[in-house]
Amino acid sequence: MTESVSPPFACRIGCGACCIAPSLVGAFPNMPMGKAAGVRCANLDTANRCVLWGTPDYPSVCRGFSPEADICGDDDATALRNLVALDALTRPRR
Ligand code: SF4
Ligand code: SF4
Repeated sequence: MTESVSPPFACRIGCGACCIAPSLVGAFPNMPMGKAAGVRCANLDTANRCVLWGTPDYPSVCRGFSPEADICGDDDATALRNLVALDALTRPRR
């Protein structure tokens, strides 16, 4: 018997939630102070696509994030809500 393997979850192009909700520590192109939670990344275009994707400037922190069904959900609002909650849970406490 062969086991079925689910295909990887595909990003909903134009969602942009993971480029808005999380805080990103450290400078990256066009965001010299990093990014605070809830702040729209300067590298998102008006269609919520990353202008750095596929270029040598694409940040390693962004390269490390993969779309996941549990996080991205079925729609953009769900993704945003999940990522806001995740950022709050993982933010270092002072
Ligand atoms: S939150 Fe998920 S679906 Fe939305 S842009 Fe990021 S990876 Fe894609
Ligand atoms: S650099 Fe691109 S992928 Fe990374 S947060 Fe900004 S818009 Fe998103």
